[in-house]
Amino acid sequence: MTSDALSKDIQDKFGGELHFFDASAPIVSAESIDYACAFTGDRYGKGTGDYINCPLTKEEYYAFVDELLNAERAHLHEFEKGEIFEGCMPIEVMASRGKDTLRFGTLKPVGLFGEDGKRPYAVLQLRKENETGTAYNLVGFQTNLKFPEQKRVFSMFPALKNAEFLRYGVMHRNTYLHAPSVLSADFSVTNKRNLFFAGQITGVEGYVESAASGLMAAIAIADELAGKPRRVFPKETVCGALQAHISTPCKDFQPMNANFGILAPLPTRIKDKKERYAALSRRAIERIKSISEE
Ligand SMILES: Cc1cc2nc3c(=O)[nH]c(=O)nc-3n(C[C@H](O)[C@H](O)[C@H](O)COP(=O)(O)OP(=O)(O)OC[C@H]3O[C@@H](n4cnc5c(N)ncnc54)[C@H](O)[C@@H]3O)c2cc1C
Repeated sequence: MTSDALSKDIQDKFGGELHFFDASAPIVSAESIDYACAFTGDRYGKGTGDYINCPLTKEEYYAFVDELLNAERAHLHEFEKGEIFEGCMPIEVMASRGKDTLRFGTLKPVGLFGEDGKRPYAVLQLRKENETGTAYNLVGFQTNLKFPEQKRVFSMFPALKNAEFLRYGVMHRNTYLHAPSVLSADFSVTNKRNLFFAGQITGVEGYVESAASGLMAAIAIADELAGKPRRVFPKETVCGALQAHISTPCKDFQPMNANFGILAPLPTRIKDKKERYAALSRRAIERIKSISEE
């Protein structure tokens, strides 16, 4: 919760964008997408191949819209009401404007053709969220639905029937920098290396993540004072993955919480989620242990 005066000062001094409202869409793990019910490809074949397309038939589309309109929404605090901008309207609010609004907007199938060469009735696009492609963002699905409702309703897409939600969509007041254009991985300002930001304002999301960012900034300062290179944690650890998130150029930068999807992928694929998470955790702890023993 950065005061208005401080927000203005930060904006004046560091330029770059300062966001005041966080309207983020859910993220699912790449492993959990049912590729038999999806197809890859950019609209009109123009783009960087970062999209996975989840089609709906006509019946599936109207069933989805009905559930979306009747789903439970999270309670917005007084200070959060009335701040929603057209560009980040919650998907459920857009749907309330008319049953066909979404298929001419967020779910428009134009320029997309399935394996059968036909254009689906409606399509949800998933965009790669991180360099390693282990996490995908539901494009345009910023939402204020309660988390269990997001899982229930968004899993109505056949490609997402077994989806693993790494982060749910949220809509709340939140002041954060467009960190990749302002900060380095050690949380210092790229063109002012002795100035550090920490906490939610850097684009990490949550109590523990904010505290961890403060710790990482402090470790970098301690390294500097000890005449050592400033430490950046490995991407096999959540600390390192968050440092990569805030410092990797990204057009649609959104705050990120700690989740298994942002960790560097394992060298070998483990299908079972529990086993995979256990292997990811073991590796992360080994990395942190070796750092603390240094
Ligand atoms: C409604 C809501 C629910 C949340 N629920 C959860 C949850 O369940 N789990 C979770 O992990 N996270 C949750 N969060 C996110 C969590 O609150 C933040 O991630 C965390 O508080 C960020 O910590 P911070 O220290 O970066 O910022 P803050 O906690 O916002 O602290 C910033 C401090 O700076 C002070 N300040 C601002 N401007 C100035 C100034 N000019 N001079 C001096 N001081 C100033 C503010 O008064 C404030 O005390 C929630 C957030 C909200 C809004």
